[in-house]
Amino acid sequence: MRVLVVNAGSSTLKSQLIETDGKVSLMRCLAERIGDADATLSISFAPDFQKVTYPVPGLSVPDCLKKLLDILADDPESPISGLDQIDAIGNRVVAGGEHFSKAALIDDGAREKLTLCEDLAPLHNPPADACIDMMRQLMPDTPQVAVFDTAFHTTMPAKAYLYPLPMEYYDKYRIRRYGAHGTSHRYAAQQAANLLGRPLRDLGLITCHLGNGGSITAVNHGRSIDTTMGFTPLEGLMMGTRSGSIDPAIITYIMRREGISFDEMDSILNRESGILGVSGFSGDMRDVLEAAAGGHERAELAIDMYVYRIQKAIGGFYAAMTRTDAVVMTAGVGENSAELRERIFDGLAHMGMILDKKRNDVTGEIGVNRIISIDDSPIKICVVTTDEEMRIARETDDLVSRIDG
Ligand code: ADP
Repeated sequence: MRVLVVNAGSSTLKSQLIETDGKVSLMRCLAERIGDADATLSISFAPDFQKVTYPVPGLSVPDCLKKLLDILADDPESPISGLDQIDAIGNRVVAGGEHFSKAALIDDGAREKLTLCEDLAPLHNPPADACIDMMRQLMPDTPQVAVFDTAFHTTMPAKAYLYPLPMEYYDKYRIRRYGAHGTSHRYAAQQAANLLGRPLRDLGLITCHLGNGGSITAVNHGRSIDTTMGFTPLEGLMMGTRSGSIDPAIITYIMRREGISFDEMDSILNRESGILGVSGFSGDMRDVLEAAAGGHERAELAIDMYVYRIQKAIGGFYAAMTRTDAVVMTAGVGENSAELRERIFDGLAHMGMILDKKRNDVTGEIGVNRIISIDDSPIKICVVTTDEEMRIARETDDLVSRIDG
């Protein structure tokens, strides 16, 4: 089955055309810094994946997807000669709330429920829904599936997923921790088990997905038992533009003092905080690392805070698990930044996580996973390149085949 995977983020669009029978990618696409003047869309086709990059200033996420479809349909190098050669579309959706505990085929009923989930991930679900709507219009006969980032975390126990608020809010509004990045954490855990040569059910793993958004999950015997993201992907780590966890009283305090609305406050916490808020100029880790190397004090402070919060989360989950065999690093920062990994694990050696600085000197390469701790490290440290798109393609194929069959 040929599955077009659509992974719409807040400022990125990742897409792959995947032939699920042979588990091969036929096309890879990445649009970055979407919405900015320097936004780009890079597309490459099998077999040699020579990247062609198009400037896409000011385009929205669905606009970028439309441009990709036009190129797929018309480019002489494209692996398909028309969009009718796409058998199914697999969409990554961040938040499924309690409406979706597994992947779902998108029909009118499922589409309505997706709207109810938008509040839970205001940066991610709306662009994903917009892409789904556009594809339903353009390719109405092609089945579409939504694969949810929250599904992996449905195994969390009540002590982890409930908040210490009056229970009426859970009863009335289902306010609880849902987590996110589940597809990535599940995949990273399985890849780490393969790398360690042991069954996932025997292992205790701490998986760290560090990208624009970031979350850490305690994966005990293959099941998510706790994760840093919560009711929405705003909780937990300090992120590119999101604050992560802060004292909730700060929110009402600022709103009163500044006389600002709920929507404005929401935007400050989701879009103006985190690394961007502290550095004052960018939420992109590459920019901030470069500035810090040049002596930019606020950039250095932002990195220091970012690292410290990751260290505290890893330490917390070490305590939450019955055993810890490995810490797994994945996503943009986790896979690519040797410098940040070194800073993170420099503070964790006393817990038995001992980095080998030479082995750490690597950047992510799709399909290549590595152990970067010293041989005697009691807890291994792994780098796993995340392949969320392949997992989404496989889940899409499973669901569509079951329905067709
Ligand atoms: P998303 O959360 O949108 O899926 P990614 O997982 O692609 O994002 O991660 C994007 C982040 O990874 C950005 O902050 C980017 O700067 C960072 N990143 C990518 N490559 C590197 C690198 N070589 N060094 C440091 N940070 C990097």
